[in-house]
Amino acid sequence: MEIKEMLYEGKAKRVYATENPEVLLVDYKDDATAFNGLKKGTISGKGAINNRVTNYMMKILEQKGVPTHFVEELSERRTLVKKVSIVPLEVIIRNISAGSFAKRYGVEEGIAFDEPTIEFSYKNDDLGDPLINSYHAIALKLATKEEIETIKNMAFKVNEVMKAYFKELNVDLVDFKLEFGRLTDGTIVLADEISPDTCRFWDSETHEKLDKDRFRRDLGNVEDAYKEMMKRILGE
Ligand code: ADP
Ligand code: UDP
Repeated sequence: MEIKEMLYEGKAKRVYATENPEVLLVDYKDDATAFNGLKKGTISGKGAINNRVTNYMMKILEQKGVPTHFVEELSERRTLVKKVSIVPLEVIIRNISAGSFAKRYGVEEGIAFDEPTIEFSYKNDDLGDPLINSYHAIALKLATKEEIETIKNMAFKVNEVMKAYFKELNVDLVDFKLEFGRLTDGTIVLADEISPDTCRFWDSETHEKLDKDRFRRDLGNVEDAYKEMMKRILGE
């Protein structure tokens, strides 16, 4: 597959066109940012880990009936994906209180919910990804009512599959962010990534954080946490 021009450079990945107009190449970087780009750094080896972890999770989800953008892993850091038009929503599922939820509602971190929650942020860096509800998303024409319904159902399904999967690895899936996109025929598929950058993972016994919070909060051993998650998921 011939690689063509770079279409987009984001905070964590570069996206290239390929000779197939329906396929993109994603190249994962070691760059790390937090707080809407205010905190910047590098996490050595992160790109390769996030690429491999994302693809592994996408394959499991496909097997469980969740359509995804995954096509083929080309190398440590590079993967072919189906080109989608991204629905500009960050879809956040939570099982346990943490992060902005704990802050916003003035509760401690670590409260296990009876039912998972869902929330949406409008993907717009200039506005700082503001929290919006599904009515706002429809009013802003970010997605149709039917698409929102599909996205909600798929996001909760992803949560059920991932929660069960991580439980076996002795990891509590605290919360995570998903992105969805439309294929040319309008089908909604899961896109972007699923990695320690986009999920909160806590060791079930020690409650040690094994995700990007180690970088956000300067907890140290950031690289080790990413490596530990890759080891538990991929066995290496
Ligand atoms: P950001 O834009 O937040 O800095 P990244 O560095 O992760 O994020 O850049 C990757 C970009 O590619 C994101 O904007 C994401 O929405 C987009 N993207 C992910 N999967 C696909 C896909 N299958 N087709 C088109 N765009 C995608
Ligand atoms: N998240 C993400 N990208 C974002 C915002 C959040 O991947 O731009 C993930 C984050 O890693 C966590 C979940 O979504 O797993 C919930 O994040 P939260 O709303 O608590 O925000 P944060 O504490 O990251 O500001």
